[in-house]
Amino acid sequence: MAAPANIETRLFINGEFCESSNGKTFDITNPSTLKLVAKVHEASEQDTDRAVAAAKAAFPSWSALSPDQRAPYFKKLASLIRESNDELAALEAASMGKPLGAFFDAYACASKWDHYAEVGYNVQGTTSVQTPGYINMTLRQPYGVVAAIIPWNVPLLFLANKLAPALIVGNTVVLKSSEKAPLTSAKIATLAQKAGFPPGVINIITGFGNVSGSILSHHMDVRALSFTGSGRTGRLIQAAAAKSNLKQVYLELGGKSPAVIFEDAELEKAVNETAYSIQWNSGQVCMANSRVYVQDTIAEKYIQLFKDHFTNQVAMGDPLHKDTNHGPQADEAQHKTVLRYLEMGKQSGDLIIGGAAPSDREGYYIQPTIFTNTPEDATIMKEEVFGPVVNINVFKTEEEVLAKANNTEYGLYAAVYTKNIDRALRFAKGLEAGTVAVNCTSPALGKDMPFGGYKSSGSGREGEPYYSLNNFLETKSYLAR
Ligand code: NAD
Repeated sequence: MAAPANIETRLFINGEFCESSNGKTFDITNPSTLKLVAKVHEASEQDTDRAVAAAKAAFPSWSALSPDQRAPYFKKLASLIRESNDELAALEAASMGKPLGAFFDAYACASKWDHYAEVGYNVQGTTSVQTPGYINMTLRQPYGVVAAIIPWNVPLLFLANKLAPALIVGNTVVLKSSEKAPLTSAKIATLAQKAGFPPGVINIITGFGNVSGSILSHHMDVRALSFTGSGRTGRLIQAAAAKSNLKQVYLELGGKSPAVIFEDAELEKAVNETAYSIQWNSGQVCMANSRVYVQDTIAEKYIQLFKDHFTNQVAMGDPLHKDTNHGPQADEAQHKTVLRYLEMGKQSGDLIIGGAAPSDREGYYIQPTIFTNTPEDATIMKEEVFGPVVNINVFKTEEEVLAKANNTEYGLYAAVYTKNIDRALRFAKGLEAGTVAVNCTSPALGKDMPFGGYKSSGSGREGEPYYSLNNFLETKSYLAR
């Protein structure tokens, strides 16, 4: 497929496309070829304020509609997203390096819009007559203006996870996409306009965290903010909310997810799935199994098969080529970060394969890398690398490995492989993680599963309607006598 080029995207505010008020744009470069892909208008403070004001003005009429009246916009948008699958795939490949063959994002995004079109009535309050003389009720009402701030690794999915539930229950939104991968969100803005959403209901701005992101986090008219990204930024957003209007904040943050492979696991399946988990999207995945613990009796075989997988199954190349399954890191900064962790990894553990950027490519590529025997307190065992880098350590007992798996400030995702049902249930219960996968790892979660983190991996859950709708609703106690 030909690489997208010469694109210029604008801000989508109050149903119209506009240039940045201060004339600033930033460039998006293809991380594989280092060629310019797009010029993107950068939201200024004034633009961000305007987007919030547009959302605020649109709120009374949007919130007055019933879910049935809102749903057709969702259905139309979902169908336009499906029709645009190839274009969206090419934009993601060219802007952040996700291979076309690894792109499921548009269909996942469209199916979220379809799903939320159907669940707007699933909002439940309570009634009680326990207080004599009164009928007590709770009413669930939308917040008003909701902000969404998303990362670059799977932008379309996070966009839908936040916007669809917020909108179906009557909120209006301002979304800020990531400065590293703004092109697909900008495309969604054109599709939302085509779908006919009333002006101001959806506003999509492009820009930097320290400008538009920070303004949204501090904004007095934003009543709830849903964020996906790093813990560092999550803390800044939480602090901004505390300093401004105490807006409701939901945080979906990073991970350092363990996979534990017991000796009775189906070995080849465990190898293929754990290797895929850390290699998909070049390891730029919050739930990737970056720490693997394998039982001593099968460790040698497991590590050899994992190495074989990286040697034989990884097709590194141009993300726009159909046979590629391993693209570059998203940008230069991400590439440098991973290279720095690789140097640390070599100081602390044993390098089995990879460990560097390939010498024959100009883009931001990293060889899939395995370390073993890395001390538990090494930086690379503690911090999120966000690259195709796995640490495989060996354990002897269940008790020992549970303590090691939980020895992290993160708690987003974990996997366990064993055929022993008692152990699987016991171990899954003991793992400190918002999601535990048994005899599988990193599949896309079903729409009936909430996603979110224990410990410093975040607060709140999203994805599944019960949790997601509640994230965007106030509760009013209503007394009648
Ligand atoms: P990031 O925190 O650097 O940026 C995320 C977003 O926050 C971007 O849009 C950015 O512009 C914005 N931002 C930056 N500074 C800001 C500020 N001061 N105020 C407001 N907004 C600001 O994260 P990233 O590098 O884009 O994404 C990678 C991180 O996201 C990883 O830690 C990954 O684990 C995490 N992540 C988590 C999930 C999840 O569901 N838990 C999913 C995907 C990614």
